[in-house]
Amino acid sequence: MAGDGLNGVVCCSFLFQPMAIISSKKHPDADGDSQADLFAAAQSIAKPEPRAAGAGCVPTERPESLLEAAVTPAELGPAEDSLRPQRLADYIGQRALKDVLDIAIQAAQGRQETLDHLLLYGPPGLGKTTLALILAAEMGVGCKITTAPALERPRDIVGLLVNLQPGDVLFIDEIHRLPKVTEEILYPAMEDFRLDITIGKGSSARTRSLPLQRFTLVGATTRVGALTSPLRDRFGLIQRLRFYELDELVPIVLRTAAILNAPITDSGAAEVARRSRGTPRIANRLLKRVRDYVQVKAAGTITQAIAAEALELFNVDPCGLDWTDRRLLTVMIEHFNGGPVGLETVAAATGEDAQTIEEVYEPYLLQIGYLNRTPRGRIATPAAWKHLGFTPPDSQLSML
Ligand code: ADP
Repeated sequence: MAGDGLNGVVCCSFLFQPMAIISSKKHPDADGDSQADLFAAAQSIAKPEPRAAGAGCVPTERPESLLEAAVTPAELGPAEDSLRPQRLADYIGQRALKDVLDIAIQAAQGRQETLDHLLLYGPPGLGKTTLALILAAEMGVGCKITTAPALERPRDIVGLLVNLQPGDVLFIDEIHRLPKVTEEILYPAMEDFRLDITIGKGSSARTRSLPLQRFTLVGATTRVGALTSPLRDRFGLIQRLRFYELDELVPIVLRTAAILNAPITDSGAAEVARRSRGTPRIANRLLKRVRDYVQVKAAGTITQAIAAEALELFNVDPCGLDWTDRRLLTVMIEHFNGGPVGLETVAAATGEDAQTIEEVYEPYLLQIGYLNRTPRGRIATPAAWKHLGFTPPDSQLSML
């Protein structure tokens, strides 16, 4: 049966494409945004055009989505932590990154030193926090987890630093959001394991230095381009996490199902994986919803058919597109004939923020081959047209 099992038809081509970090603060014309385009975009918000007959429906209001990669409050806590792999060998996928970390761990252990500071970047839900915990476990040290918005006052970071034990891992999520004053405290702490404290003000100000235990800072960010260069330069290792391929996500779903005591077939796991936007956090979330569905329907094992049935019920797209992805592509197709269209114009036409489109939505659309970035602007590919129920322009010509 098509689509049943790993060898079945996979609607998303998980082709690897490097994630380009491009600043959204460009002159509009440099990226295919002409004044005329922007004007047309503004008009299209005011007067939405009628949708092509038979084309994929996109609701006008953003519904609650299971496909958000960011962590939800329900996903914080011991139950969720039990799903995290504990050692590097159990961490599935990201082979190149694992190899780099494996060598760094062995070298540091051989020299009996702490690990180099490590910066991990990539979209949310791909396993950055999990990796920090794994690094600490492999090195046999503790791990303190915090997030940049929680380090607003200098004493927040000072309190954390002075309490670190030798070799500890300090994980700071969303590190691009660190306040400047906190960041400046981190510079000597990262470089010389020293805390410089200024006492007093003006001409009577004096700086006192306090030694710190050696530690490893693991910073995580979705926006590596937003880090200041002094901070970025203090990381010995800078590594990118990429979206997971289908054959990496399937074992993750099978592993989580085993932990949750939810019987599942390989093809059932593939169905969940296919709809998970290449993201383990989403895969785990979808699996839990399917498990609930199976329990209520007394169906026993999660098969491909049952997983598909359950995920249809929760409005999860077969390719993992969420509401915003569908809206971006639909606007590009309906209003700009699929492009090329500039980023700012797409942003104006959809009411989304250009940087969010570029950093949160486009990487997955590029990955599955639904979007191309060209010097003249963004293009919705024929695969995107077909997936949303439109006839791509080439096929329209051949039909004449
Ligand atoms: P991030 O910090 O990048 O937002 P997390 O490390 O919190 O992501 O990972 C989200 C969830 O996905 C974790 O709870 C974990 O169970 C799962 N996960 C992430 N990466 C992997 C992996 N490589 N193998 C197995 N499970 C993973």
